[in-house]
Amino acid sequence: MNARLQSVAQLETVLAAQRVATDHQGLVSLEVRQRRLQAAIDLLVDYSQPLAEAMDRDFGGRHPGFGLMQDVLGSLTSLKYARDHLAEWLPDSPRQPFAPYDQLGAKAWVRYQPKGSIGILGTWNAPLFTLFSPLASAFAAGNRAVLKPSEVSSHTAEVLAAAIAERFDPLELAVITGGADVAQGFASQAFDHLVFTGSTAVGKVIMRCAAEHLVPVTLELGGKSPAILGSSLDMAEAARRLAIAKGTNGGQICISPDLLYVPQDQQQAFIAAFSAAWSELWPNAEGNPDLVSVINDRHLQRIDALLDDAAEQGARIIHCPAEAPQRHSRKRPLSLVIDPPAQSRIMQEEIFGPALVLLSYRDIEQVVAHINAGERPLALYYFGDDLQEQAYVLDHTLSGGVTLNDALMHAAMEDAPFGGVGASGMGHYHGREGFIEFSHARTVFQSPAHDPRREWGVLPPYGEHFVAAMQSQVSR
Ligand code: NAD
Repeated sequence: MNARLQSVAQLETVLAAQRVATDHQGLVSLEVRQRRLQAAIDLLVDYSQPLAEAMDRDFGGRHPGFGLMQDVLGSLTSLKYARDHLAEWLPDSPRQPFAPYDQLGAKAWVRYQPKGSIGILGTWNAPLFTLFSPLASAFAAGNRAVLKPSEVSSHTAEVLAAAIAERFDPLELAVITGGADVAQGFASQAFDHLVFTGSTAVGKVIMRCAAEHLVPVTLELGGKSPAILGSSLDMAEAARRLAIAKGTNGGQICISPDLLYVPQDQQQAFIAAFSAAWSELWPNAEGNPDLVSVINDRHLQRIDALLDDAAEQGARIIHCPAEAPQRHSRKRPLSLVIDPPAQSRIMQEEIFGPALVLLSYRDIEQVVAHINAGERPLALYYFGDDLQEQAYVLDHTLSGGVTLNDALMHAAMEDAPFGGVGASGMGHYHGREGFIEFSHARTVFQSPAHDPRREWGVLPPYGEHFVAAMQSQVSR
């Protein structure tokens, strides 16, 4: 059997074989888990160059150094963190048995057992990270897995599938490539847990497929992540950090700032500071090897349609750097879209590309109300030194995660969960929470030798004092 699967029928066969292997194996030791994690680490190290080149080709311009940083090193960080912390997560967790059984010698504990086989569907924007970062948690929890890379980043998918076929036993890790039809077939299998990274719309399709076998899902979705410039801040520094974040991967990141709330009297100052910061990082768009291209023409047309619609509806658009976008080119300047009307498409749909909406505001309550009127976002960013205002924003909003005085950073935390809430997703990976996500927390109660229930009078046939005895226990 080869770890590269050729059809959904083969996937079904491998899943059944993984199930038999899981049942036969019993306890999955620390060493086995670490060996699987190490094999994934070795694969990424050994194939790092062809993978970075394949990502560059998939994007039609994504600096191989950036591919190494975001996808290879990002994935390695998750895998190594799991490998190096697993021993702390693995032991059974002792629990306090209820009284008076605790006095009689009862014992209780929670054992974190592997669920079995985990299916992981990745995206093109982070074609390795969206597979290997959840895989780190899945392997740490003692599971086997099957990966389905995105068909949009097909070169990367090919290199990865060949590498997995060479390095892995399909009973531990397999891979299947293909488009939406394969994704649906994949999501309809009797996995023990399914991870999907992608859009909210497709997330609903995946969850419906998974419902057939009651497969639990982790959905890592997207949305319109807001950023707020507070009332007191270092404008130049905030603009610089926002430019770095917005330019990362050409804006094609699930937690990329999408809507930026700017105090009304600060709009001009922000635009000037942001443009200056942007031009320092990416002085030109056309032909700039440091700028990540829009992945393909379909996405370029989607972004252009959002911008055209906003312009038609009266939004002002400023390009950074100030060069006219070349319609045919996927290397695009960043478009600042200023105060588009609420009904414009760019106010409804996730941008996922080189554009940022600026919304001017008068008071922070108005901003929080506007954010809360939309779907729960995957990320939220607040810039400012006013701790009261910061606390107000944190206390009155809900998002997958938060970074204060910067953007994107919380997702790099290995020691904390990463995931969405509401329409931006459910469940999480990274750190101990990721280990728990892919484990079954199984409670074990060990009864004492002596059973006191007869002498307590709580067993049938009930005596005449039973009701009174129970009633006497009803208390606050
Ligand atoms: P997508 O939802 O369009 O596609 C994801 C995958 O789903 C595809 O590769 C395809 O195999 C499958 N698919 C597509 N249509 C399908 C259908 N009708 N039925 C079944 N499967 C189908 O997303 P994308 O364009 O690959 O990625 C962009 C989205 O992913 C954005 O919304 C972004 O915010 C989100 N994202 C989220 C995270 C996160 O960690 N939360 C990370 C990266 C990207």
